[in-house]
Amino acid sequence: MTDQEFCEQKQFEITRDLFDLTGKVALVTGGSRGIGRAICLGLATFGADVGVLARDRETGEDTAARVRAMGRRAVFVQADVSDVAQVREAVRDTVREFGRLDILVNNAGVGAQTPAEQVTPEEWEAIIGINLKGLFFCSQEAAKVMIAQGQGGRIINVASIFGIVGSELGASVYHASKGAVVNLTRALACEWAKHGILVNSIGPGFIVTDMTRAIQEMPALAELLERRHALGRFGCPEECVGAVVFLASRASTFVTGENLFVDGGYTAW
Ligand code: NAP
Repeated sequence: MTDQEFCEQKQFEITRDLFDLTGKVALVTGGSRGIGRAICLGLATFGADVGVLARDRETGEDTAARVRAMGRRAVFVQADVSDVAQVREAVRDTVREFGRLDILVNNAGVGAQTPAEQVTPEEWEAIIGINLKGLFFCSQEAAKVMIAQGQGGRIINVASIFGIVGSELGASVYHASKGAVVNLTRALACEWAKHGILVNSIGPGFIVTDMTRAIQEMPALAELLERRHALGRFGCPEECVGAVVFLASRASTFVTGENLFVDGGYTAW
């Protein structure tokens, strides 16, 4: 049943299963480590079966095994999101395994630490290729499946506070990619609303993962950046999960094109 039918049939009772994802199939890019792994385990906690997409087999299989240990189905799909052919195959493999696809979480991403005046065309291509082009073609492939299924779907993009603010950290290409993700989210939400596909993003602040390891190892810089969060600290990957489950669930049927900050107040000043 689509969200609209659900509403129209006045079955929209507020019950404790508002966040339940039982019977839903999710594909999480970059699901092997960090925020993506927490999202895989979080979606599984609420009942979803999960496709874990990443390049590295060992960490990806490990996340899939952890999901299976929770009693849900899981499959590791090896792909580089910057390669459109691999993306197409990964979505095909996920659908072949589970028979459907309801939720895509575009989480795969890479950071940058190069002063803007030193960025090479190759570095630009690599970061944009993963953070923006990869996200677009994963969305396109997933949307084709969701449109064919005729039951709507959810696409949740992991953007960043750096999608709306700048920094002095040598991350200009990353800022560009995430800014584009925030507005691409709005554009796709508008285009695919007619298919019942809701497209939203989350905007994490600094989260303790491999991506921020170098910063964590520079105490003075880490402290400066911690202070930029109203809560005075970095977040942990699990703190991103609630926002994603909300956006994947029946709790958010009237939310689309939104960017939900999960940033400890970084953008609240
Ligand atoms: P992370 O720990 O470095 O994990 C990155 C994940 O993406 C890994 O699973 C990695 O697996 C995967 N990945 C990277 N390149 C890929 C590619 N080309 N194809 C497929 N998978 C790829 O990073 P994280 O901190 O969890 O970040 C996750 C997302 O949150 C990113 O989009 C990041 O921009 C965003 N974010 C992070 C923070 C933060 O402070 N950590 C803040 C705001 C937003 P493989 O290497 O095996 O492919």
